[in-house]
Amino acid sequence: MADIFSEWLRTNRVDDAFLRRNLTDHALPIFLTGAGASGRSMPPETSAEAAWEMAAQALTAGIPELSRLIRFVQTRVPRSFEVQQGRDGRAFTYDRGDRGDRGGRGRKTLPFVSCPYRGTASDILTVAHEFSHALQIVSSGRSTMPPLSREVCAFVGEQLLLGWVRQARPALSPYLETAWLTDNSRYLGTDLQSLKTALESGSDTYDYAWNYPIARLLAQSIGQEWTRKKIAALFRSGEKAPSLLKDYHDRPRILQQRYVLPGMHDADGTVAGLYRQIGGLLLLDLQDMDAGAVDRSIGDRYARLLQSMQDRSVFLALDRQQVPLGYVLWQRDGEGKTVHLEHRIACRQRLPDLLASLESHCPQVAMELRHAKPTDSSWGIRQ
Ligand SMILES: [Zn+2]
Repeated sequence: MADIFSEWLRTNRVDDAFLRRNLTDHALPIFLTGAGASGRSMPPETSAEAAWEMAAQALTAGIPELSRLIRFVQTRVPRSFEVQQGRDGRAFTYDRGDRGDRGGRGRKTLPFVSCPYRGTASDILTVAHEFSHALQIVSSGRSTMPPLSREVCAFVGEQLLLGWVRQARPALSPYLETAWLTDNSRYLGTDLQSLKTALESGSDTYDYAWNYPIARLLAQSIGQEWTRKKIAALFRSGEKAPSLLKDYHDRPRILQQRYVLPGMHDADGTVAGLYRQIGGLLLLDLQDMDAGAVDRSIGDRYARLLQSMQDRSVFLALDRQQVPLGYVLWQRDGEGKTVHLEHRIACRQRLPDLLASLESHCPQVAMELRHAKPTDSSWGIRQ
């Protein structure tokens, strides 16, 4: 019993504890990305070939190290966007392996992409997903990547498309963001349920859906944290991909933040509207203390933060995608000496990013923070 599931764990070099820690023992992070976007599903008209080209542009911008291979995939990989009646219509990319000539030492056959395309926002994302599969297969040469890592690459491709569209096609962006969020309800809903069942009681039948939930979380973190070079290395890594992901096994959780926040920069105001609404709701909770929605100490905390905003002694750091990363709060005495310094960060691994951002805006505070002795996330330096 449980043979197929154990085999899947071994193939992908993950274990029960890693999956439980990230998927079942704690609440999943709440994705606010896309939550402020338009709910209508039909985006401005985009043909399948235009979506294919957009995927190529987004990947080239995100992983320029692979630009030659991206161009190769874009022009050479055979693909079908046909919607066939009566078929279940799931997209796939088929790795056709070696040509089998010259004793298997011949050139690798190109992968084949099938992506039924009706022009929905979800279809546009799927095109980027399948393009990324094809790119990963071509980049990895003869080395075959295990399925979970393969899905990480495909989801990273979706992330890169979302990021690129935000800048280059802002009118399309809210549709894709919403579709991405809706897709989550499958990857982190029904697919996760199937994985949980297998975790509980094993399984003697394979469900490809097991690969999605953890890959979705990994891709989110990689999109935030990894350099382009490291992402290129993942696409090229073939069977070695799990070893590039092994750092995540040492972390308490892949995504430690409670909320995955959208970038604050947006052209049409949907994300700004989301932040405004959240701020408005929070302020009402703080205003109506009698309702008991928040603790008095939280009220005091926000009173302090608002005071610091007015005094300009709090710094909100944004990452390269304009996503709030953390903040630093300080207090100076009458002689300008810093008597209190503290920071909050969504994800501890990203402290260097917070410091770098602080450095370029408030170098003095950054220096003090670097030299202060950390005690958890807050420390006084009164001596
Ligand atoms: Zn896939």
